[in-house]
Amino acid sequence: MTSAGRFAPSPSGELHLGNLRTAILAWLFARSSGRRFLMRVEDLDRARAGAEAEQLRDLAAIGVSWDGGVVRQTERWPLYAEAVGRLTAAGLTYECFCTRREIQEAPSAPHAPQGAYPGTCRNLPAPELEARRAIRPAAIRLRSEVREAMVQDVLHGSYTGIVDDFVLRRNDGVTAYNLAVVVDDAAQGIDQVVRGDDLLPSTPRQAYLASLLNMPVPEYAHVPLVLNADGARLAKRDGAVTLAELAVAGVRVEEVRDVLLASLGLPAGPLERALAVFDPAALPREPWVWPGMGGRGA
Ligand code: GLU
Repeated sequence: MTSAGRFAPSPSGELHLGNLRTAILAWLFARSSGRRFLMRVEDLDRARAGAEAEQLRDLAAIGVSWDGGVVRQTERWPLYAEAVGRLTAAGLTYECFCTRREIQEAPSAPHAPQGAYPGTCRNLPAPELEARRAIRPAAIRLRSEVREAMVQDVLHGSYTGIVDDFVLRRNDGVTAYNLAVVVDDAAQGIDQVVRGDDLLPSTPRQAYLASLLNMPVPEYAHVPLVLNADGARLAKRDGAVTLAELAVAGVRVEEVRDVLLASLGLPAGPLERALAVFDPAALPREPWVWPGMGGRGA
């Protein structure tokens, strides 16, 4: 299988400028390194009817093209089940009955890092397990054998983060993002993951899981986010931040594309022009503050 990069939007609403800027970067990283570029819709959770079509339309309008068809996670249940089955057969999973509230209120295990699952259900005795099964369905957690892991990132260098007993399958049966992303990237031959740096803290978990499943760990590049004037992550409430909203404000898609490219120090025009001079080492390492366009925005 030839190597590939990808963009993997969650179809929960329209893409905003931060998402579009990340998509442009993922495309530039892949194309400049001779990779294919794949589009995967992460619709396991929070999918809104119609959002996928809007997102794909906006990506195409800004000049992001992809190879082959669109892959949807809701169509890939057997792959996820196989992976959970393999981990379970190796003794690397357990059933968890905790509610969110119970986890918040549980005393954390000694030396456990903040935010890590406290391990409440890790060693339930058989009778207790039976009793809990009768009350509510279980989530499946990873029985992690490490507390942290290190990954290499093109922009961040070595990054070490928590690996706890994270959820693989929720108690409503839905595959958890951390499992789906690892299984899909491997199954699709994706060996380069470019995404927003809000996902960097999840990356050690994903790399560790890939190694347990004997799947290759991709190259990672976590790119800076777009912020609003208050320094918070750009969101829908920050005025005109989608192509549709900007169009209403009189801003053409080409202008939006060129502003995003300028924010990356790249030349205006079709993305092929930026591709010709793209150099990951020259990318800004700081978040970019959206200046607003069309008289609204910031
Ligand atoms: N679907 C995730 C999101 O839209 C991205 C996951 C990824 O790129 O690994 O935030």
